[in-house]
Amino acid sequence: MKVAIVGAGPSGFYTADALTKDVPDAQIDIIERLPTPYGLIRGGVAPDHQTTKRVTRNFERTALKPQIRFYGNVEIGRDLSLAELREIYDAVVLAIGAPLDRSLGIPGADKEGVYGAAAFVGWYNGHPDFRQLMPRLDGSGVAVVGVGNVAVDIARVLVKTPAEMATTDLVHYAADAIAASAVTVVHMFGRRGPSEAEFTNVELREMGRLEDCHPVVDPQQLPESVTGEMSDRDRRVRERNLQTLREFVELAPANKRKRVHFAFYARPVEILGGDRVEALRVERTEVVDGRATGTGELRDVPCCAVIGAIGYRGEPLEGMPFDQRHGIAVSEDGRIDEGLFAAGWIRRGPTGVIGTNKPDGHAASEQIAALQPTVGKPGRSKLEQRLRERGRRWVSFADWQLIDRLEVERGKGEAPRCKFVTIDEMLGALDQEMPKAS
Ligand SMILES: Cc1cc2nc3c(=O)[nH]c(=O)nc-3n(C[C@H](O)[C@H](O)[C@H](O)COP(=O)(O)OP(=O)(O)OC[C@H]3O[C@@H](n4cnc5c(N)ncnc54)[C@H](O)[C@@H]3O)c2cc1C
Repeated sequence: MKVAIVGAGPSGFYTADALTKDVPDAQIDIIERLPTPYGLIRGGVAPDHQTTKRVTRNFERTALKPQIRFYGNVEIGRDLSLAELREIYDAVVLAIGAPLDRSLGIPGADKEGVYGAAAFVGWYNGHPDFRQLMPRLDGSGVAVVGVGNVAVDIARVLVKTPAEMATTDLVHYAADAIAASAVTVVHMFGRRGPSEAEFTNVELREMGRLEDCHPVVDPQQLPESVTGEMSDRDRRVRERNLQTLREFVELAPANKRKRVHFAFYARPVEILGGDRVEALRVERTEVVDGRATGTGELRDVPCCAVIGAIGYRGEPLEGMPFDQRHGIAVSEDGRIDEGLFAAGWIRRGPTGVIGTNKPDGHAASEQIAALQPTVGKPGRSKLEQRLRERGRRWVSFADWQLIDRLEVERGKGEAPRCKFVTIDEMLGALDQEMPKAS
């Protein structure tokens, strides 16, 4: 059985690992557009949350299993089409994530200074696609639209001190830009109330313990208790969040220079300014039956940048039926077509934590185990031949381990690593090291 997994994020690795158990003699190739594996664990998870990134050690063990090979720096849809891949392999699993931002969809969203979370987070995490973003941080206020964990990550990275970020892998250009910026206030806007906000409590609590930043909450926006239909687990999380927000109200600002304002019941309606963002106009809302409705009461919040953190969407790939409305692949329990499957965010949409992708991997693996292998599909020998014919240089897992080691060395013991931030830099570093290794 020859299986190709497209995408080396969590869902790709969970699928690969499950396959090594369900189909022990399968040849499994993980094809990744970047020279680096781990998807959003490297390019999304916040640089100051290094413990979350430790799950990559398990993925590394998976990658080193003899049945598995990593082909980094190979993009399906650019270097090889999905149709070609399906010809070569018995089964193809699309684990390509959801890399696009949901658009704010309000007037002014095309102004300079408006960013999506995927781009902004990618920028501070050194994702090669966003190296050139250079966000405008030349005013005192930044507006973050959204009240989930991604919004909290962005706010926190913007207000933490250089000392707080010194032991993280925040990339240098972003660390310098943030330290040099004029930003002292981050406004986070949620259309609905604190009971509906999607933070996890650990992330929220952290906002009360920052060295130079004070969280600001309007006590009048905090309800007595969480109401509405939800699971007991969700209710507990939301009750805890409410409690944390109440504690924020009681916290003394203690001469802290920066502020993060949690602004609930506020719906962004327009981004104001000329070519560049100058303010965000928000409308006060009321929540009726769980839905936010505008009250017509407007206020303008001055800011130099607006960052939309309202969710991600998948990207259509030729040959993958795509549900435009939800921004995911069309599948039935992960099965797209004969021999073609989806796992992770491209299957389910952008929800949950890293481990939420594990059952998808298992499901894809079980469905592949039930397939009849087609005799004679060539798998990786043909893949390599095609890549060579097209002059495409791929990065093996050993190459990645070298990049990894070099990045860790560049961290000089203080930072966990100092990332290479362009593909040329990564390939150049490999070229320099190869002669030494041989
Ligand atoms: C900003 C942010 C912070 C987060 N923080 C946390 C956290 O702290 N804790 C937590 O548990 N979860 C966190 N998550 C969620 C977690 O990262 C996701 O659940 C998980 O990464 C989704 O896995 P995935 O494999 O579906 O997608 P991804 O991780 O996006 O991986 C997809 C991979 O496919 C590759 N790819 C895409 N297209 C192609 C192609 N055409 N050819 C080849 N390769 C391709 C991409 O380069 C990428 O490596 C966070 C998410 C975000 C966005």
